[in-house]
Amino acid sequence: MSDVSFVRVEKASKSYTKASNNIPVFDNLNLDIPEGSFVALMGPSGSGKSTLLHAIGGLESLTSGSVKVDAVQISKMNQSQLSEWRSKTVGLVFQSFNLMQTLSAFANIELPLFLTKLSRAERKRRVNEIAELVRIDHRLNHRPSELSGGEQQRVAIARAIIADPQLLLCDEPTGELDQSTSAEVMNILRTLCDELEKTVLMVTHDPRAAAYSDNIYHFENGKLEFKRDQVA
Ligand code: ADP
Ligand code: MG
Repeated sequence: MSDVSFVRVEKASKSYTKASNNIPVFDNLNLDIPEGSFVALMGPSGSGKSTLLHAIGGLESLTSGSVKVDAVQISKMNQSQLSEWRSKTVGLVFQSFNLMQTLSAFANIELPLFLTKLSRAERKRRVNEIAELVRIDHRLNHRPSELSGGEQQRVAIARAIIADPQLLLCDEPTGELDQSTSAEVMNILRTLCDELEKTVLMVTHDPRAAAYSDNIYHFENGKLEFKRDQVA
């Protein structure tokens, strides 16, 4: 881990307009995530955790303020610039896995590689390599419905990192898993940070999952509170 900030959120505000009512989510928020660190974001339901994660991943725009990732200002990009940037820079992992049900684990993991120029043989080699890393190599012919929750989440993590993005954004990745399966998934996320030097931002409700991170931020009343810096 370095001291260089990989994600920098500055003066970020977000509000939604619903039936001409303004619904503020957060206001004037700052967050720095050092390169190669693992940050957990906690807070009550509805506090804006997913909204902030989506803003950092370029999935949702801010009302004002800026997001820089690896010194690139994404707040000013248009939709096509954003989707190209996202495909190279960001891996996304969700609570409910979001796998394609009709495809095998192998084909799910391979999907992002169709946006690259890799040959079929190179894609296969890469899928096998990543599948081994997340310990799902023995289930590659299975469809999602034939996998446990933990196995499905490992497939989703493999898919998220297959194109080698620097930033991994995880929204409640253990939300649907039991405790021992959660621990397996958290060990994998920790390994991706420690060994592949991914920068990881994870939203979680679970203090046991948050304990795998380097830093914890708590979201309350539209403010971010710093809870722990294990690495300092
Ligand atoms: P969390 O992930 O912390 O549970 P969210 O970021 O999903 O919270 O939501 C924060 C707030 O923004 C909630 O009050 C939610 O109802 C509101 N919100 C989220 N998305 C929308 C939307 N598309 N339109 C209107 N309000 C929204
Ligand atoms: Mg959420």
